[in-house]
Amino acid sequence: MATQRILDFLATRRPTGPCLVVDLDVVGDNFRAFQKALPDSKIFYAVKANPAPEILRLLAQMGSSFDTASVAEVEMALDAGAPADRISFGNTIKKERDIARAFSLGIRLFAVDCVEEVEKIARAAPGSRVFCRVLTDGEGAEWPLSRKFGCVPAMAVDVLRRAKALDLDAHGVSFHVGSQQCDLTAWDRALGDAKSVFATLADEGIVLKMVNIGGGFPTRYLKDVPVAKAYGEAIFSALRKHFGNNIPETIIEPGRGMVGNAGVIKSEVVLISKKADNDNVRWVFLDIGKFGGLAETMDEAIRYPIVTAHDGSETAPCVLAGPTCDSADVMYEKTPYPLPLSLTIGDEVLIEGTGAYTTTYASVAFNGFEPLRSYVI
Ligand SMILES: *Cc1c(COP(=O)(O)O)cnc(C)c1O
Repeated sequence: MATQRILDFLATRRPTGPCLVVDLDVVGDNFRAFQKALPDSKIFYAVKANPAPEILRLLAQMGSSFDTASVAEVEMALDAGAPADRISFGNTIKKERDIARAFSLGIRLFAVDCVEEVEKIARAAPGSRVFCRVLTDGEGAEWPLSRKFGCVPAMAVDVLRRAKALDLDAHGVSFHVGSQQCDLTAWDRALGDAKSVFATLADEGIVLKMVNIGGGFPTRYLKDVPVAKAYGEAIFSALRKHFGNNIPETIIEPGRGMVGNAGVIKSEVVLISKKADNDNVRWVFLDIGKFGGLAETMDEAIRYPIVTAHDGSETAPCVLAGPTCDSADVMYEKTPYPLPLSLTIGDEVLIEGTGAYTTTYASVAFNGFEPLRSYVI
């Protein structure tokens, strides 16, 4: 997954310290694959996955829209050249003054999941379009988004009814099936819930127009994942099943699936040691860990492929840890990671599939380690 362009960059530039290198060609390919897989859906790139200006500019040029979660992300999308009508404020948890600021920047599309948030939007962004997020069980996802966002479908009906009463445009329903979702049936269950909200409100004369299918499209780590085409087909047949010939406007919000496989982190082995002479598990300490950008190794949720110059030689299980003085900074221990016995201190390793959810998760200077550097090529 390290493209030749990435390998050439690392070989010629020899950056010191851990760093992420993102190949823009891969981002472009991913965007086109989503367009092809879901030709009738608008693509709103989830900015939080990787907000590097070069990535945002490329996607803006290619015609992408943007899902943002804060005023700063709205401004990044605008700076990249996206017009305000291609930006949504998709966080369900917003300060009223941030809603007002986004509204003054031209944003007219907002996510909600409760009546209280609808009331903020009616005051701070009058007349805007709102969509209500429904809960999903997150089953099948490696990084579930659980119960923090969304409400049950019956409550979504109340929320959108209230939006209409406050002269907002009750625009649609959204959901997120959980990140790194490899179960193609997850969208079918969520689309069934969305349809129930559409149907109940239609009976009252409130006609919703849009379903926001969210993100969740996976990137390949160690196991094969279904390709964009398979997701497109599963989503389209679920839309047909639940909405028949009356398929609403749809949008998707890929984050991980847009940039995950476009990036590789270069790291260095700082130490290899044991806790006792007779231990058969070695501890391998890298110069990057949970606080340097690999936060998604929390609970060993995301397991990244690690490439070394010794691959193909005999391996043994290792505990993999980061360089900081926090004992939580251990990435893989419950399920040790097999690494070559010939791996030595000072070796470089490549951590693949790290284009999403790494740079922005890096701490500012815990133990004095600088945030993860990023090169977009
Ligand atoms: C994080 C997020 C996404 C992107 O999710 P991925 O699983 O990375 O595709 C999309 N929509 C919303 C509302 C999000 O919070």
